[in-house]
Amino acid sequence: MIKFLDLYKINKYYRTNIDNAIKRVLDSGWYVLGKECRNFEEEFAQYCGVEYCIGVANGLEALDLIIKAYKLNKHDEIIVPANTYIASILAVSSNNCTPVLIEPSINTFNLNADLIEEKITNKTKAIMVVHLYGQACDLTKIIKLAEKYNLKVIEDCAQAHGAYYPNTNKRVGSLGNASGFSFYPGKNLGALGDGGAITTNCDELAQKLIALRNYGSHKKYENLYKGINSRLDEIQAAILGVKLQHLDTENQKRREIAKLYRENINNNKIILPSTIDKRSHVWHLFVVRSQERDKFQKYLLKNGVQTMIHYPIPPHKQEAYIEYKGLNLPITEKIHNEALSLPISPVMTNQEIEKVIKVVNKW
Ligand SMILES: *Cc1c(COP(=O)(O)O)cnc(C)c1O
Repeated sequence: MIKFLDLYKINKYYRTNIDNAIKRVLDSGWYVLGKECRNFEEEFAQYCGVEYCIGVANGLEALDLIIKAYKLNKHDEIIVPANTYIASILAVSSNNCTPVLIEPSINTFNLNADLIEEKITNKTKAIMVVHLYGQACDLTKIIKLAEKYNLKVIEDCAQAHGAYYPNTNKRVGSLGNASGFSFYPGKNLGALGDGGAITTNCDELAQKLIALRNYGSHKKYENLYKGINSRLDEIQAAILGVKLQHLDTENQKRREIAKLYRENINNNKIILPSTIDKRSHVWHLFVVRSQERDKFQKYLLKNGVQTMIHYPIPPHKQEAYIEYKGLNLPITEKIHNEALSLPISPVMTNQEIEKVIKVVNKW
């Protein structure tokens, strides 16, 4: 059986360095907000090409804290893609803001910038873009709209660490006003537990976030804001420091697999994913579409290929968002009905890649 994602194998590759990183933290006697977190924040800021990185506990809270730092609340609307992973939308509603759901482009799975302006009202305060499945969303039009209407651009980079905006030399997390990253184990840059980060070039925002993630405290036992506890712990930061050094190599391996799939999968019942340019996609997921998705998935499993669906139920059809049940979002629903993610990971062998291609082509 070809596993959808073999995390053991991915981390085994770095075993010695990870063991040493963990030992270093254990021996230091300092476990939260110390040297390891500061080092990683510095390295990740540099990697993304931004002034500031603030380590936090997970990706959801990274987005949540950005919205909190901007003091957006129940009178405010935030534009989000309708087909995103639900965490993007949860970050909006946990601040009592209203998520305004916008359809994606069926070709890139990313926000359709042409549909945004008609949804902007005098309550709109921000546009949250999501670089879904690892493909960077083109921000050119979105930034122009944000300037025109004085909106913040928040990037959800949880699936796209290291991707470049289409036709630029800038990495995701560096063009919006603030960006949230997740280091959940299965992400392209994954910890061995939960972790997250915020990147920004705004000094004032960064200072506020440093306090907000730590009870709103800028100085021990003095509190400027009603903050939360959302810190990146020293062990995870040390492990992330090891894995960050290999992120570009791993992303390149993913690109090579995607290239092989795209060149060799040939089946007219399947639509392959497309890219704007090579470097703009880091292939967190390789999502194909098929009108007989469920049958296709069963067939693949029977033939030794494990797959996943990202995602089976769109946010507006979730019980948690019953108020959105009546929304008409045909493209989003089509994607959720047809999407299937094939295995893709830096540790896949050529034999495994060839087997996936062969099995898919035989269907
Ligand atoms: C994983 C993910 C998140 C949430 O990150 P966690 O660290 O799991 O909280 C947010 N947005 C997207 C698009 C994600 O894929």
